[in-house]
Amino acid sequence: MSRHDDILTELGLAPTWQRRARPGLGRAPEALVAPAPSPPSLLAASEVTAPANAEARIVRIAALEWRDFAADVDVCVACGLSRTRKKTVPGVGDTRAEWLFIGEAPGAEEDARGEPFVGQAGKLLDNMLAALGMDRGRNVYIANVLKCRPPGNRTPEPGEVDSCRPYLDRQIALIAPKVIVALGKSAATTLLGIDATIASLRGRVHRYGGLPLVVTYHPAYLLRNLPDKAKAWEDLLLARRTLRGAANPRRPP
Ligand code: URA
Repeated sequence: MSRHDDILTELGLAPTWQRRARPGLGRAPEALVAPAPSPPSLLAASEVTAPANAEARIVRIAALEWRDFAADVDVCVACGLSRTRKKTVPGVGDTRAEWLFIGEAPGAEEDARGEPFVGQAGKLLDNMLAALGMDRGRNVYIANVLKCRPPGNRTPEPGEVDSCRPYLDRQIALIAPKVIVALGKSAATTLLGIDATIASLRGRVHRYGGLPLVVTYHPAYLLRNLPDKAKAWEDLLLARRTLRGAANPRRPP
């Protein structure tokens, strides 16, 4: 052991280590693998009980880094869903993705596994990604408006959406996607802050936080309405043209 190591051991700071490079990954490893979380903030559990702390919570979440993100969601008690969830479902994918897909809220399987879109609807979403030459680990991030399952898969309540929105907004800021795809009416109307049908929202490019947002059908709806898959495909092509236009502003979508 070197003198330097001796000193660190004496101070209780050893052992030290460095992240090893992982060969063979095109992207930086931290883009694909969530780093180990720091201990969750002690503020997380107590801050929501005092209304005066709500603002501090928003400010704190807006400054979270990826390494702390999932652990922070894990200890969130900002709404009643924290009492009924099995697991939190923060999101999955490439944290530097150009594509961000946003659904409504976890269902039973997602609640059990802690990952979004893992049921039948998730398989269809994976197939849609594959048709675009992508998968959930590469250039795609998948999240929900809510990070916890509403009991019985009921529609999210406005208070739950408000409590969870700082997390979604932080994910969007960290990922900085080139295009957002809202999956289904609930996600679309919540994000856009309007009440409208999917039919009236499809086929044009909206904005969320300054980023282009395209609306399409929820995969669970498509499983029950197979002919509408063709329309969903059109929506994804619009999203892809939008992304390419954003990457090359001289080429309109
Ligand atoms: N439906 C959603 O909106 N999100 C999921 O994660 C699963 C089903």
